[in-house]
Amino acid sequence: QEDQFKKVLSHAKEYGYVFQSSEIYDGLSAVYDYAQNGVELKKNIRDYWWKAMVQMHENIVGIDASILMHPTTWKASGHVDAFNDPLIDNKDSKKRYRADVLVEDYCAKIEGKIDKEVKKAAKRFGDDFNKEEFLATNGRVLGYQEKINTILGRLGKSLENEDLADVKLLIEELEIADPLTGSKNWTDVKQFNLMFGTKLGASADTAMDLYLRPETAQGIFVNFLNVQKTGRMKIPFGIAQTGKAFRNEIVARQFIFRMREFEQMEMQFFVKPGTQKEWYDKWKETRLKWHLSLGMGADNYRFHDHEKLAHYADAAADIEFKFPFGFKELEGIHSRTDFDLKAHEEFSGKKLQYFDHEENKNYTPYVVETSIGLDRMFLAVFSKSLQEEELENGTTRTVLKLPAVLAPVKAAILPLVKKDGLPEIAREIVENLKWDFNVSYDEKDAVGRRYRRQDANGTPFCITVDHDTKENNTVTIRHRDTMEQKRVPISELSAIIKQEVDV
Ligand code: ATP
Repeated sequence: QEDQFKKVLSHAKEYGYVFQSSEIYDGLSAVYDYAQNGVELKKNIRDYWWKAMVQMHENIVGIDASILMHPTTWKASGHVDAFNDPLIDNKDSKKRYRADVLVEDYCAKIEGKIDKEVKKAAKRFGDDFNKEEFLATNGRVLGYQEKINTILGRLGKSLENEDLADVKLLIEELEIADPLTGSKNWTDVKQFNLMFGTKLGASADTAMDLYLRPETAQGIFVNFLNVQKTGRMKIPFGIAQTGKAFRNEIVARQFIFRMREFEQMEMQFFVKPGTQKEWYDKWKETRLKWHLSLGMGADNYRFHDHEKLAHYADAAADIEFKFPFGFKELEGIHSRTDFDLKAHEEFSGKKLQYFDHEENKNYTPYVVETSIGLDRMFLAVFSKSLQEEELENGTTRTVLKLPAVLAPVKAAILPLVKKDGLPEIAREIVENLKWDFNVSYDEKDAVGRRYRRQDANGTPFCITVDHDTKENNTVTIRHRDTMEQKRVPISELSAIIKQEVDV
């Protein structure tokens, strides 16, 4: 698994998908730049989401609110008081860790021990080895498993009750060590606010303290009535938005999984009070379907229903995805009650209610939201698509099996040789296709090498122009995943490609 993750990192860089930010200055931790191919993949994911959420729903409209918002917004939303992570400082190394991540790391270590036991036993028992049975009956493994369950149960409870003393005790009792130095010398566990501060205005006395938004949702809540009135929206209706959010994450790692500057794709759905449960279930189902529509395998997704709820929620679930480092949250579906609209009413003194003509009364709508990280979705798609295949001739090929609809370049046009008028024909095909799709032209190296390059780049089709093309206006079209090649008329190319890459 670790190996797979390393491959993802190096492939993302080598093929122009993701670069470290400010790399020439040794980078900025947990901040990344999308490169020439990455920006296309990211845009395609965003468009795929927007199409499904906005274009396909008559009752959902989009907005693009600012990153900077009036500072009272974050008082009302609860972020000033409650958007914290418990942190623990190491006296010796002066390093700071998120308490929950430290404990999670510790659990991962114990899981590593379980794996070792399994491998040892598999070797010993050979063909007779039954993993399930071994896990369920082996005393040592059961002991490890119990330890993990106790730790996670206790940690969850103490974090929920904000009982930081207990978190500290847990870390001491288990003799959890600093992952970098091995030292066990901790100081107190403290709460740390994750919002990035900034200032508006030039003069020191009048400058106003602002925050970079930690979520896009609040831009929608404060615009709720503006959109509802000008768009004459009738409940139930939704407002969707994609855009940057910022969090001063303490343990920022796992590449673009947890970044300090990232992009969210959110939709807040306003419903009649009392119907939220129904809509919550519906959106859970709809969002899972959206993921499955990309064809990356149903086994890679699962729901995680929250027992511990945020201050604003009456139900919450994550759609988890099987990343190279295990199942982790990809998207959240939250039933946010009327918490946000009520809070903004209170803090702004403005009414944020909806007049229901059918019921002939005013009420504050309830909200069900779907919130997905665009970068996390990028990592999900990219890591699942990156595969190594053994070919019949004994060689291996690296292929990035991106869903065709998301691939940065849909087709590469390749003249078989750089002479005999073939480049000219290939160029002409590029000129015609570029109106419909992102296509590229490649004439360097032998055609086999070019195929491999396009495979690794995720291009679903290669179109090769050869000497027969001059005779009969046909080309070969090679499919990335099956490697099958077919001879087709140039005039049919656009329709053939469209069939696979259009949603
Ligand atoms: P986590 O538990 O992983 O910190 P969260 O529960 O705080 O995430 P939400 O506040 O519900 O996340 O945000 C919604 C979505 O935004 C998440 O499901 C995730 O895809 C994305 N997201 C949140 N924080 C980050 C981050 N630091 N980097 C990248 N994506 C993020």
